[in-house]
Amino acid sequence: MKIVAVGRNYAGHAMELNNPVPQKPVIFLKPDTALIKNNKPFFYPDFSTDIHYELEVVLHICKEGKHVNPKFAANYYDAIGLGIDFTARDIQQQHKEKGLPWELAKAFDHSAPVSQFFPKADFKDLYNLDFHLVKNGETVQRGNTKDVLFTFEQLIVFVSTYITLRTGDLLFTGTPAGVGPIKKGDHLTGYLQNEQVLEVAIK
Ligand code: MG
Repeated sequence: MKIVAVGRNYAGHAMELNNPVPQKPVIFLKPDTALIKNNKPFFYPDFSTDIHYELEVVLHICKEGKHVNPKFAANYYDAIGLGIDFTARDIQQQHKEKGLPWELAKAFDHSAPVSQFFPKADFKDLYNLDFHLVKNGETVQRGNTKDVLFTFEQLIVFVSTYITLRTGDLLFTGTPAGVGPIKKGDHLTGYLQNEQVLEVAIK
């Protein structure tokens, strides 16, 4: 499986990092070695001193899709969860300045903790999902899927034009404003519709 992720899908986050609001989705990949499941801890790596959390709604892809027709795009994901797109902001900044790719900042081992997934049908309105991240007991990031720049369906259509989606792939749909650093000893919990679904200890 692979993890497809979108950068800058919430205007508030694009602006907080002084990036323009994009005309087209900004896409990057993480390999399967990035996954953390079952609330396992994250071990802070030596190669960065500025790893940030980015809490995101994640789609579970349930069907092989290539050049997906917009009319049917909603059929290609069947479940929703939360994930954290851990980002080595220091490496990303250096690479952005030099016009280099982002992989080392985004795709490193264990950079993608994910929650369990919940059937889409459990949610009344996929475009009014509240999600928030608590760090050491304090809410640090809050978003709602009504604020996405590109809908889940638009992302599936766009990505599948270039990259075939397969059953089991995960699509990280972008982070709202409020990203920030983690350090050893921090404790993160992610909430979807006010239910705690994700927990990550930073070691
Ligand atoms: Mg992100």
